[in-house]
Amino acid sequence: MNTLLITHPCALEHDMGLGHPERPDRLRAIERALEAERFQSLHRDRARRGTKDEIVRVHPAAYFEAIEAAAPKTGLVQLDSDTTMNPGTWEATLHAAGGACQAVDEVMTGKAANAFVAMRPPGHHAETSTPMGFCFFNNVAVAARHAQKVHGAERVAIMDFDVHHGNGTQEIFWADKSVMYSSTHQMPLYPGTGSLNERGEHENIVNAPLRAGDGGDTFRDAMMSVVLTRIEEFHPDLILISAGFDAHRRDPLANLNLVEADFAWATEMLMAIASRKCGGRLVSLLEGGYDLQGLSQSAAAHVAKLMEA
Ligand SMILES: [Zn+2]
Repeated sequence: MNTLLITHPCALEHDMGLGHPERPDRLRAIERALEAERFQSLHRDRARRGTKDEIVRVHPAAYFEAIEAAAPKTGLVQLDSDTTMNPGTWEATLHAAGGACQAVDEVMTGKAANAFVAMRPPGHHAETSTPMGFCFFNNVAVAARHAQKVHGAERVAIMDFDVHHGNGTQEIFWADKSVMYSSTHQMPLYPGTGSLNERGEHENIVNAPLRAGDGGDTFRDAMMSVVLTRIEEFHPDLILISAGFDAHRRDPLANLNLVEADFAWATEMLMAIASRKCGGRLVSLLEGGYDLQGLSQSAAAHVAKLMEA
């Protein structure tokens, strides 16, 4: 079985305006990195379009319809200070959510060993009814619900190593003991949530905040002492990764000092738990990462590790 890479060219048509850090070139850089010889054995597929039924498992129908109605025919429409729609946004959001469900289908049915979905817009800041922080639909939450509704997964563990806290994912699963959300992130930093004492109604939220300037050693300590044990003890049927690469030392939006090897290490640790607990089933979704070199090389290290399954 192979690692599956899911992308779609429509993700390049979503553009939030000149100078916006969450830009199409991010995906182009990742695609270029994954053209290298060592990625030849990747199985590649185009993301399918997500359906309204799949997305309203997480977001109310009225929210889905409001985002659809907000999409402009020309020009840009700003939903919050840093979240903007252009004519390509709507299809990109549907395919990002659809690609996440497709990856879950392929991994839950054993057709792929694991999968990486290189799509945008990202999703982990999107709350039940609020778009924010470059996000519209919460892709990882849609993936978790898809695994539960379609494939009978009872417990889904989400690990989010994006440098920003996934406030949306935390909010969506706050009172849901069937989904564990764990996150390492810089704090204080946007969006401001993610303190240690935010634990969810069923102790199903695990936050491991890091400080500006922290590097790989501190990140690995936090993973070992806080996150990994909890995921193991949760006995997940599937592990999802919110794979943001903006904790990289080169990233312009944050101040952690991770390098490619740290992302590869985290990937390896999560794969080991997946192997022990759920037949290796793991789906990773791209979130942030805004330095093209740091992003593409980290994503390549992440995918190369996934291919060792
Ligand atoms: Zn981020």
